[in-house]
Amino acid sequence: MPAYCRESRFSCLLIAGLLVRGNIKFPGQDDEPRLTCRISLYCHMSAMIYLDNSATTRVRDEVIEAMSPYLTEKFGNPSSIHKLGRLSRQAVDAARQQVAALINASPEEIYFAPCGTYSNNVAIAGRARFVEANGLGRHLITCLIEHASSLGPARALEARGWRITYLQVDAQGFVDAEELRAAITPETSIVSLMWANNEVGTVLPVEDLSAVAKERGVFFHTDAIQVAGKLPIDVTAVPVDTLSLSGHKFYAPKGIGALYVRKGVNLMPIVFGGGQEMSLFPGTEGLTNIVGIGKAAELARLEQDSSRQGLTSMQKILIDKLTAVDGVRLTGASDLSRRLPGHVSLVVEGAVGEELVEKADAQGVCISSVSACSQSGGDPSHVLSAIGLPKEAVLGSARLTAGRFNSEQECLKAADILSEIVSAQKSRKVLRQR
Ligand code: PLP
Repeated sequence: MPAYCRESRFSCLLIAGLLVRGNIKFPGQDDEPRLTCRISLYCHMSAMIYLDNSATTRVRDEVIEAMSPYLTEKFGNPSSIHKLGRLSRQAVDAARQQVAALINASPEEIYFAPCGTYSNNVAIAGRARFVEANGLGRHLITCLIEHASSLGPARALEARGWRITYLQVDAQGFVDAEELRAAITPETSIVSLMWANNEVGTVLPVEDLSAVAKERGVFFHTDAIQVAGKLPIDVTAVPVDTLSLSGHKFYAPKGIGALYVRKGVNLMPIVFGGGQEMSLFPGTEGLTNIVGIGKAAELARLEQDSSRQGLTSMQKILIDKLTAVDGVRLTGASDLSRRLPGHVSLVVEGAVGEELVEKADAQGVCISSVSACSQSGGDPSHVLSAIGLPKEAVLGSARLTAGRFNSEQECLKAADILSEIVSAQKSRKVLRQR
């Protein structure tokens, strides 16, 4: 640990110790000394337990190492024809192969995007432009639990006169392939259904859903952003037309995504510029991040099985300990083989999710309530509402998502901390009610 960190940690602990010993409380303060809470945040920073890996992940050291030369000596623009440019082009091509290998695609089917949000937008809105240009039917089918980056383009099409069918999900977040079949009409041109949900961890039966669309000759897009790097994806076995990935969900930096477009499938550009990435994602390539997503994809492919086992063990610990607490229950798929590994989503009876997050944070545990990738300003989660939870339950949501940098010990500790927070909240509520 660098000396300045040791020093600042020491002075932080010293100040914290003095203040806590002095038992400083502000006038009007009720049950919790706020200052003490804040100080305890600093004290715990060195021992922070990060359980929010579905929001984003720490970049792996091997990824940073692979990226580093492309920030310094190999900084060329991949479009330049001089030596530096050619080296960068080679790096982009190598990363394309690495990402393709993760999902068993051909490199020519991989397009780099600024992030997962752009991948979903280009797939849906880019296909819609093709549909409109060819006078095809303006009907899109999606479902109620999609991420905002897929619901957004669907709503924009709705505003342009498209008919949108939002399929219902069951209480665990599954979409029924038969309901999709029944919803397809001769006017249907696009089906967009996510592979796994970020908030409740449910893995949708995309193999069956895409097969139904294929049978009827309808274009099928899937948002696989929470799946890539965690579960195997084989595009030669699953008939999807387009599929999105995002690097920061599997230990690459934020700000890099990819879109798989099956050979022969037509999309039209929705952003215009210099023609990079076959004009679908124009703009100078984010070279370093592209190298990063390539390396992260390679590592994820090589380590997928072992990392899945580790994530599932941590997931079981968290689920067993937390659902044993009175008033806590799991949301999303209960069968772990149909749930994202490492993903735990809960509702806590009578609690407010944001308060749980703040209290856990004050004790050095990072979790989330509604999706951190939406800036919904505290609106109740559309996903939890769609699975049929009443508004009070939706407000008490919490999500813990383990990643490769977590350990079972950390999960045990985090579960203890959260259980205490929930129990303390419960007893305070009972006291207040008396
Ligand atoms: N889709 C899903 C399921 C997500 O979980 C996220 C982000 O959390 C996105 C799309 C957006 O990806 P990005 O943050 O790379 O734009």
